Amino acid sequence: MRTNGTKLEGVELRRIEMPLVFPFRTSFGTQTTKSALLLRVVTSEGEGWGECVSSAHPLYSSEYVDASADVLRRFFVPALAAGGDVRASAVATTLAPFHGHRMAKAALEMGVLDAELHARGVSLGDELGAVRERVACGVSVGIMDSIDVLIDQVEQYVAQGYVRIKLKIEPGWDVAPVRAVRERFGDDLLLQVDANAAYTLADARLLARLDDFDLLLLEQPLPEDDVLGHADLAKLVRTPICLDESIVSARAAADAIRLGACRIVNIKAGRVGGYLEARRIHDVCAAHGVPVWCGGMIETGLGRAANVALAGLPGFSLPGDTSGSDRFFATDITEPFVLDDGHLPVPTGPGLGVTPIADRLAEVTASTEWLAA
Ligand SMILES: [Mg+2]
Repeated sequence: MRTNGTKLEGVELRRIEMPLVFPFRTSFGTQTTKSALLLRVVTSEGEGWGECVSSAHPLYSSEYVDASADVLRRFFVPALAAGGDVRASAVATTLAPFHGHRMAKAALEMGVLDAELHARGVSLGDELGAVRERVACGVSVGIMDSIDVLIDQVEQYVAQGYVRIKLKIEPGWDVAPVRAVRERFGDDLLLQVDANAAYTLADARLLARLDDFDLLLLEQPLPEDDVLGHADLAKLVRTPICLDESIVSARAAADAIRLGACRIVNIKAGRVGGYLEARRIHDVCAAHGVPVWCGGMIETGLGRAANVALAGLPGFSLPGDTSGSDRFFATDITEPFVLDDGHLPVPTGPGLGVTPIADRLAEVTASTEWLAA
C-alpha cells in the first residue's frame, strides 16, 4: 500500500533501431527501420516500461524521436520529479503546461502506469476496462510498386488470418488498387483505406469513386487541421469518414463528431497523449454511438501489448491495426504477439503483461541515457 506517496527515482531513455521485414510506404514516406525511444521508469514502487511512438522524421506528425528525447530530458522528467507523489492519473495534469509533444507525454504516462499496475498486480486491460479476452486484428498494407505485388501481399495477409485489410492510398494509388483488391478477394473481405492526409477537398469527386467498393471507411483523407473540410467531404462521399491525425484529444473527438467530420475514429494513445486520454476518447465516441478502432504506429511488443489491452474496450467494435509482431519485425523485443485465428490475446499479467527480453533489447539498442529524478 502507498503511504508516503510514490517517488520518481529516474527514467532511462533507450534509443532502439529495429529493421522492418520490408519497407512500409505511406503517402508521407517510406520506412525501412523502426527508430523508437523506450522509457524505463523507475519509482520507489518498482519499474515500468513506456514506448514513445514518434518516428525518426516528423512526417506523420510534428513529433520525432530526437525531439521527444529532448523534451523528456529537459522538461517532462524534471516536472514529474518535482511534482512529488507520482501517479499515472496525474501525469497528464503535471505535464499540461507544456504544449504538444503528446507522444512523449504518452510514453512517460505509460511507464508510470506500468510501474503502478505492477505494484498493484493489475493488468492494463483490467485497469482500462477491457471486456474482451482477445481482439480481432486487421493489417495495414503499404503502397506497393505495382498492383501485382499488392495482390500478392494481401493474399499472404488473408492467408495468415487477418480479418480486415487496410490499404494505404495516395493520389495516383487509390481507385485502381482498391478495385483490384476488391475484385480479387470478393465482397466479403473487410476493406478500408488510409490516405494520411494526402488529398484536398478538390479531390472529392475522385474520392467518391471509392464508394463503389463498399469500404468500411475512408481514413484521414484531408490535412490534420482541416476538420471542417472533412465535414464538407462527408456530404460528398458515401463511404464513412474516419479521422486519425485530426483527433489529438477527447475534445477534438467531440468537436469532430459534432461537426459531422467523422463517423468513425481511429484511436492511437501516442497521438492523444496517453492511454488514459485514449480511454476518454473511447468514452466520448461511445456516448455518441461512434465506433472506434485501435490504430498502430509500428510498435514493439511493449506498445503492442498496450494497444491490444486498449482494443479490448467495448467501443472498439472494428478490427484494429493490432497486427502480429511478424507483420513488422523478424524478432520482437518481447515474446512475440502471434495471430491466432485472426485475433491476439489481451495480456493478463500485471501492467503491460510483457517485458523486454534482455538479450534482444541489447541487440537493438543504439544508446541509453539515465535521467535521475
Ligand atoms: Mg492512419
